[in-house]
Amino acid sequence: MMQDEHIPQEDLVLYAMQAMRSHELAAVRVHLDRCAECRQALAEVNGDLALLAVSVDPKPLPEGARERSIARMTSEPSQAAGAGSSVIGIDSKRPARHAAVWIGWLAAAASLLFAFSQEQKVRSLNEQLAQQQQAAAQQAEANARAKQVLDVLTAPTANRVLLTAAKAKPEPSGRAVYLAESGGLVFQASDLAQLAQDKAYELWVIPANGQAPIAAGTFRPDAAGSASVLMPPLPKGVPAKAFGVTIEKAEGSATPTTPIILVGAVPASGE
Ligand SMILES: [Zn+2]
Repeated sequence: MMQDEHIPQEDLVLYAMQAMRSHELAAVRVHLDRCAECRQALAEVNGDLALLAVSVDPKPLPEGARERSIARMTSEPSQAAGAGSSVIGIDSKRPARHAAVWIGWLAAAASLLFAFSQEQKVRSLNEQLAQQQQAAAQQAEANARAKQVLDVLTAPTANRVLLTAAKAKPEPSGRAVYLAESGGLVFQASDLAQLAQDKAYELWVIPANGQAPIAAGTFRPDAAGSASVLMPPLPKGVPAKAFGVTIEKAEGSATPTTPIILVGAVPASGE
């Protein structure tokens, strides 16, 4: 670009978008320093870009900017003549390379759309983060609740009371809560008879599919005859038909030994 020529509009657009190559940049800056006309043209380009920025949606280009751009690019003879010779029209002197200018506008619009979509992405990520934080908070709450339940169930000082029909003689009993999908099992028994030192009670899960009973842990009753088995290691996803308790040797057995001391069937149809 020659020093004494005005800056072509597409270069002004590139300059305003900070998309100009560095070797051209220096020349444009030198010219802008000493040419009020080009500074004015640059101000208009900047104004148009600002208008475009705030009206990306729904209109791709604001009315005023569009008209100004078209007027500037279509160097109408009447406009040039009407301007008179005393004022050097920017339009008449500057070669109007329409395609290049519009490519400049499109590039500007594209970069604005890109910025807009990046902003949307950041917003979407922030929303995801907030959801994850909320889920984590809910999980922490659920964990705290589960711990409270377990604290009560496992506390040595907790009172373990089975309520039965009034005046009924207390019999050994047990209650199993089983979640087949996770293999989670909580078992509590009451009024169990005391056992010899080399013996233990053993809990069994009897699978619904007819396979062999699965050992679910040994236990001995406390002085009051109460005992519990909490979350023994069990396979996941094994629906149970029933639960049973037998008396086995202290270290437990691979298969249950009769007689069955306690037994309970899972109610049909997930009741
Ligand atoms: Zn100039």
